[in-house]
Amino acid sequence: MSDTAELGRVTSLAPSAAAVEGDEGRVRGLVDAAKGLEEADARGVLAWLATAVPRPAVTSSFGAESAVLLHLLAEVAPQVPVLFLDTGLHFPETLAFRRDLAEQFGLQVVDLHPLRSVDEQARDRGHRLWERDPDACCGLRKTVPLRQALRSFDGWASGVRRVQTPERADTPVVEARRHDGRWLVKVAPLAAWTDEDVGHYLDANELPRHPLAGQGFRSIGCAPCTTAVAPDQDPRAGRWASTAKTECGIHLDADGAVERTRAAAPG
Ligand code: SF4
Repeated sequence: MSDTAELGRVTSLAPSAAAVEGDEGRVRGLVDAAKGLEEADARGVLAWLATAVPRPAVTSSFGAESAVLLHLLAEVAPQVPVLFLDTGLHFPETLAFRRDLAEQFGLQVVDLHPLRSVDEQARDRGHRLWERDPDACCGLRKTVPLRQALRSFDGWASGVRRVQTPERADTPVVEARRHDGRWLVKVAPLAAWTDEDVGHYLDANELPRHPLAGQGFRSIGCAPCTTAVAPDQDPRAGRWASTAKTECGIHLDADGAVERTRAAAPG
């Protein structure tokens, strides 16, 4: 798979027979066997994902702090594909950052596209859906494409951290999740990291910053739904700032279709 590889329209993805079978017992067994990872460092968690899970993936928004997880991945498992939700509404700076990081770190980035372009969505659902119904927009442009792409994988990692939002406060390092009838392993190698941990890692490793990070953009998603924040504000205060929305939905169990079970406590 090349850096420029694309999965194309997500509807072209079809689950393999093994993926369809993707049995609950096997995934739960993997998660239970990984109970010690709650205390492991991020490199150890990523290395486990890359070796223990048959078809692993990592997701990245190529946002303000994404270089941390991607740098760790490049160190321990650069062959693992990185899934990027190319919503068609990102800042040009984000797309440039995605290209630069993939090249610098030698990562295999796969662009996931929504079924409909932004213009097609406007024709079908009206202009600027993100202003009228951001949950629907995120569903069409993020949640559905990712879930369809995950049919081709058995487990995935994200950069979610517990301190980011109340919804993320209980994030386990390793869990089993049922998506659309299939069980997958999900890991959060940075679950316990603080904002200070992230800043220190970026500085210590002299990692590149998102081009907008220096302009007050401390959490970066689609351009219509992202604003700069003041230094004393919550970094995620600039996401969907005029609404009560705090999550795009890819990490939520909101539709009731996802069940989770966490790894047993170490010991
Ligand atoms: S972040 Fe905004 S523009 Fe992007 S998919 Fe969600 S609602 Fe749509």
